[in-house]
Amino acid sequence: MPYFIRGVFWIAVYLGMALFPCLVLLSGRMPPGYGYLWDFSLAQGYGAASMMAIMFFLTARFKRPALPFGVDVIYYFHKYIALLLFLIVAAHPAILLTTEPVVREMLKPAQINRYMAAGVVSFLLLSLIVISSLWRKQLNIHYDNWRLIHAVLAVAALILALIHIEGAGYYIDTPIKRLIWLLIMVSWLLLQVYVRLIKPIDLLSKPYKVKELIRERGNAYTLVVEPGQHAIPAYKPGQFAWLTMFHSPFSMKEHPFSFSSNPERKGELRFTIKELGDFTRRIKDAVPGQTVYLDGPYGAFSIDRHPSERGYVFIAGGIGIAPVRSMLRALADRKDHRTHILFFAGNSLEKLTFYEELNELREQLDLKVILVLQDPPPDWQGESGYLTRNILTRHLPAYFREQEYFICGPVPMMEMAEKELHRIGVPLRHLRSELFDFV
Ligand SMILES: Cc1cc2nc3c(=O)[nH]c(=O)nc-3n(C[C@H](O)[C@H](O)[C@H](O)COP(=O)(O)OP(=O)(O)OC[C@H]3O[C@@H](n4cnc5c(N)ncnc54)[C@H](O)[C@@H]3O)c2cc1C
Repeated sequence: MPYFIRGVFWIAVYLGMALFPCLVLLSGRMPPGYGYLWDFSLAQGYGAASMMAIMFFLTARFKRPALPFGVDVIYYFHKYIALLLFLIVAAHPAILLTTEPVVREMLKPAQINRYMAAGVVSFLLLSLIVISSLWRKQLNIHYDNWRLIHAVLAVAALILALIHIEGAGYYIDTPIKRLIWLLIMVSWLLLQVYVRLIKPIDLLSKPYKVKELIRERGNAYTLVVEPGQHAIPAYKPGQFAWLTMFHSPFSMKEHPFSFSSNPERKGELRFTIKELGDFTRRIKDAVPGQTVYLDGPYGAFSIDRHPSERGYVFIAGGIGIAPVRSMLRALADRKDHRTHILFFAGNSLEKLTFYEELNELREQLDLKVILVLQDPPPDWQGESGYLTRNILTRHLPAYFREQEYFICGPVPMMEMAEKELHRIGVPLRHLRSELFDFV
């Protein structure tokens, strides 16, 4: 089935999941209305609780719903829909506090009851989630700690919101409505059991072993892993997996890395990892035989989703070459005859990961490689400085509007390439990007 149709289907499923609990409230006997603003505010409260619960579905990384969009797009959606959700949640008490004196009374510290307090704390926890997510780096919260805090706060906020709803009881005043509503909400909460318990157990049953660690140019290492008794899941060149190493799959200490291996060569997987922070700096400590756990494949950044384009243009910066290597290797193995271009920006020749391999690939493919060096050697004849629109247009063919573009690298380079390619006339539907920092 085409990805577009699948995408529309999953959007409809998402809307259905979000709206169904609210439709349950509207069925059967209705409580007396207290005016438009009262009902509007309650609708916001229930709608927000429903959206909050579905967040657990969005982040559970189910492969089928993620397939048409790419899991990174789902994470972005989660991020932005969470902001909308926060505004809706904030509007719920704001409307009641300004229009209903009785609610103001109920929230006074001396009068507040258990379920109103639960609502207030739930809102405060949601605020903490938003602040710690939007300003994680500025607040100096380590990613691993943030992830744990995020998960705990999200579960606590939803449980408290349910206590608030259950206590307030308005619109779920018949036993059957109350039961259906709570069952739906609790089943979303139980998804956490799948994510935190069942999925890690599954990963534990399919371990991989480090076969080899190859030192690459540019402070990078290629980790070659092979499966234990199980088969390697089929993946597309350019996709990625979450890798857990030095810890158990229950630890929540997993990191996303693109496959740099060629999916046409079965039996082993490769990840090329650049030293950057706590985890990536430890990769060089990996030893043959060491256990690794992989959750994947994920991602929509692949030539295999666009098999019949006139040719591909790869724009890579630094370690952004990792998924590109996977795609080029796959094209070479498939004896692809189309003309492809690779713009590869880096610091210096010494730091260009896979520099030697690119020469090899040039012989196997009709591949034009344009290296763009910030610090070129004295006798350098090629492009230098940062990648710019001029460099792109100098090397693109006349039919550049019909090619498919794959962009991966530092954020400023990606933004420049996307903007400038679109400006010179490349339709947005031909631009594919993989952001290595989507959280
Ligand atoms: C889809 C995708 C594919 C990637 N492919 C590659 C690749 O092929 N090669 C490569 O070298 N790097 C790749 N990365 C980047 C890599 O995941 C991060 O560099 C790595 O997780 C940083 O961890 P650290 O502890 O070493 O660094 P830190 O200094 O702790 O983190 C640096 C930043 O990386 C991000 N990060 C840290 N931990 C995680 C995590 N568990 N999950 C998600 N993001 C995290 C955070 O934004 C953090 O601020 C990819 C990222 C994504 C999203």
